Amino acid sequence: MQGLMMSAPLLISSLITHADRHHGETEIVSRRVEGDIHRYTWHDCHRRARQLGNALLAMDIQTSERVATLAWNGYRHLETYFAVSGIGSVLHTVNPRLFPEQIAWIVNHADDQLLLFDLTFFPIIETIAPLCPNVRAWIAYCDRDRLPSGDKVANLMCYEDLLARASDALIWPEMEETAASSLCYTSGTTGNPKGVLYSHRSTVLHSFASGMPDALCLSARDSVLPVVPMFHVNAWGLPYSSAMVGAKMVMPGPGLDGKSLFELFENERVTISAGVPTVWLGLLNYVRQNGLKFSTMRRTVIGGSACPPAMLKTFQDDYGVQVLHAWGMTEMSPIGTCGVLKAKHEGLSSEERQAVQSKQGRAIYGVDIKIVDEKGDELPWDGVAFGDVLVRGPWVVSGYFRGDGGDPLRAGWFPTGDVATIDADGFLHITDRSKDVIKSGGEWIGSIDLENIAMSHPAVAMAAVIAVRHPKWDERPLLVVVKKPDVAVSREELLKHFEGRIAKWWMPDDVAFVDSIPLGATGKMLKNKLREQFKDYVLPTAA
Ligand code: ADP
Repeated sequence: MQGLMMSAPLLISSLITHADRHHGETEIVSRRVEGDIHRYTWHDCHRRARQLGNALLAMDIQTSERVATLAWNGYRHLETYFAVSGIGSVLHTVNPRLFPEQIAWIVNHADDQLLLFDLTFFPIIETIAPLCPNVRAWIAYCDRDRLPSGDKVANLMCYEDLLARASDALIWPEMEETAASSLCYTSGTTGNPKGVLYSHRSTVLHSFASGMPDALCLSARDSVLPVVPMFHVNAWGLPYSSAMVGAKMVMPGPGLDGKSLFELFENERVTISAGVPTVWLGLLNYVRQNGLKFSTMRRTVIGGSACPPAMLKTFQDDYGVQVLHAWGMTEMSPIGTCGVLKAKHEGLSSEERQAVQSKQGRAIYGVDIKIVDEKGDELPWDGVAFGDVLVRGPWVVSGYFRGDGGDPLRAGWFPTGDVATIDADGFLHITDRSKDVIKSGGEWIGSIDLENIAMSHPAVAMAAVIAVRHPKWDERPLLVVVKKPDVAVSREELLKHFEGRIAKWWMPDDVAFVDSIPLGATGKMLKNKLREQFKDYVLPTAA
């Protein structure tokens, strides 16, 4: 027997429609490429999204065709999110930090029909336009008077002109909730990037789950500033979840330095923000150097790489900002777990609570998770056994765009490529990515714990631990460190800092001081580059 409830499809257009109807006056504030601050509301956003929808239809964009963006977090990008998916085409957000050849490859692989871009990225457009013959028009997010001139880009159009000509009379079409809505490529540190194709259903369900109190805890009373870019897994879904709850949105545009961010945090009374640890390093430095305090910020979501416990402590103890440590990946829309405490943790000391929060957290409803050994057998949740993390759920990938890379699933589960323990309370603790694990004498050493310890030393600005060849043990850990400016620290002092904090055989065999550690397009340390750089390094223990 069937239930007798309506089967309304879960569509992205319902998010913006709801935000307009119930939170129409709530503001969206953007720092623009033009340099000024732009303000409007969810009502305006919806109106302009409908205009853009009509403009796209007039340009003959068909259902399921891809429309790309190369843009910062801003209101025009947000309108594009809702317009493109709303009319049934697929929004492809491209990461401008990739090399132009990679961008061209992705645009061609996705068969993008249009590409909308911020003026900052015009030089990239000039490079890739001749390489991407299928793109019918390149649309600059600007007014006519700022439209760049140049003969390298055929069919260059002005976004505001396009909108000005379009009517806002549009009723979003009904479609199947399983229809494709947006496309995001993995960063492809190994091999070609792979396309992850989200659906309306997966996006709406991910928004429901990520907004819940034990996840990001979003509400209409929040002012949300996503530092995580809208070209990196849809800014972790925040444009959608903020529309769902009717939160104010604050978009930092190209201003990702500590000063610009702090100004927006204060002026726009931001209550929650989200970004990768490397971004927060810059912000915390700025705040510390200038003796500032956050007056409205209550929570910050940190994910994308492990949040160093020292950073968690600084945010919470020095600035009263609660850290929500989250884990996920492009293939998971992206949120899988959130480090929110249970009632039983309330009586713990602040250090003990922070130790729990430093783990990547509990699976949110909708994400099923397990760890397995090399044979695929499930491992116990005892906080000790570690193995490959497998996930499944309605916002987890089932295959890549165009079937590239074959079937990614293992008996219905998606192998994440991460290695972790899970404790009896269900808290996941990532010890490494499987390709970064250090295999010493047949045993595994997790680099993340070692990096966290190094980062807790006051002289260390950034730390990476990588595997280096060893004649006896196969691989041994090398600690690569960027020192804070004007602070002296020796190799011996750093190694001493590890004593008593780890098993003896986990101790790095040496320390290498460097000026910088290479970062990838999403702000993560590129350990494969570091391994390459240190491939001939001779450890003192290897002699
Ligand atoms: P890509 O694989 O394209 O670099 P993603 O942004 O999808 O990009 O990254 C997902 C990976 O980032 C995860 O598989 C994991 O290795 C790492 N990651 C994400 N969040 C965390 C976290 N909180 N702690 C440790 N690692 C994390």
